Amino acid sequence: MSLAPLLSEQELFRLLQTIRQSRQIVVCAHRGPDGDAVGASLAWADYLQSLGKQVRVVLPNPFPDFLRWLPGSHTVQFYQHHEGQATAWLAQADLIFCLDFSSPGRLQEMQRAVMASKAERVVIDHHLDPDPAMGTQLYSFPQLSSTCEAVFRILVQLGAFEEMSKAAAVCLYTGMMTDTGGFTYNSTRPEIYEIISLLLTKGIDKDKIYRNVFHVYSQDRIRLTGYILYEKLRFYAGGKAALFTLTREEMQRFNFIRGDAEGLVNMPLQVKGMRLSISLREDTERDTVRVSLRSVDDFPCNRMAEEFFHGGGHLNASGGELPFPLSEAVETAERAIEAYADLL
Ligand code: 5GP
Ligand code: MN
Repeated sequence: MSLAPLLSEQELFRLLQTIRQSRQIVVCAHRGPDGDAVGASLAWADYLQSLGKQVRVVLPNPFPDFLRWLPGSHTVQFYQHHEGQATAWLAQADLIFCLDFSSPGRLQEMQRAVMASKAERVVIDHHLDPDPAMGTQLYSFPQLSSTCEAVFRILVQLGAFEEMSKAAAVCLYTGMMTDTGGFTYNSTRPEIYEIISLLLTKGIDKDKIYRNVFHVYSQDRIRLTGYILYEKLRFYAGGKAALFTLTREEMQRFNFIRGDAEGLVNMPLQVKGMRLSISLREDTERDTVRVSLRSVDDFPCNRMAEEFFHGGGHLNASGGELPFPLSEAVETAERAIEAYADLL
């Protein structure tokens, strides 16, 4: 078996031409960057740098601490912290790569600076329904596990595998791993394991990467898990749906740091027969409620997220946001569960 090409000959040629013609490139990803967003950005930047381009990775806001060990992550600039500098880089750039998102809204506060830049925008992503306004070249692969998988396969097509650095391989593996929950969902296509084999030839330590990401809880974080599961989790629809909330006060009590909520929403799916898990978390910076949805099999989280939570995402993992207090958010979520009862 060999990896089927993702891009047509024409697309590949056009992408390469665009890169060749540019000098100053910004690579960006969505707000609340996750392992896939950061991993893909760093690996793609690594490739562009190897071509001698001046490359900056600019993200709307910081990523969780458990990604800080990623090689190259210290070079990332955050719009939220250095708005002036980031805006200037975006304005000066002649090319902007948008990775792991394909609608301008996911940039939130960075949206204006990205969309106002005269630079050509190129998207590499795996989310459904890319917005044509996002770029002149939309390389969108909803069938793939992750943007990192797309980036890897494009790099192979660009003939960049031989020269790929171990650092880039670590970043790509990390994104594929985090977007599939350590290869436990959205991860049954054989190509994924072919890619892993190839990444392993770069000398990455996949077991260590797993521990670096998933086994770095603080004592507070593991107690927070216990608290949520014991005190906060509610079951609905005859045990096929679960919901929990997390308030700012509770986050303070458990010395919450960015990233501590990661993975909590997956836990209720460990209950036999559970089809849908919803978490509602007060945003630490704004007066909104962050919604995360996870499901198994054919339950369409993304449809529910679009219909009820101003969001979207993938079939089994979606998110959104509600601009009102937690109590009302709970009512909305309960209405959503009710409305989707026949699909549960
Ligand atoms: P999480 O629950 O980890 O925040 O998000 C899971 C997935 O849902 C993300 O990978 C992304 O695809 C999608 N998602 C999360 N938040 C939003 C949002 O506000 N809007 C849209 N369209 N998708 C989101
Ligand atoms: Mn992703």
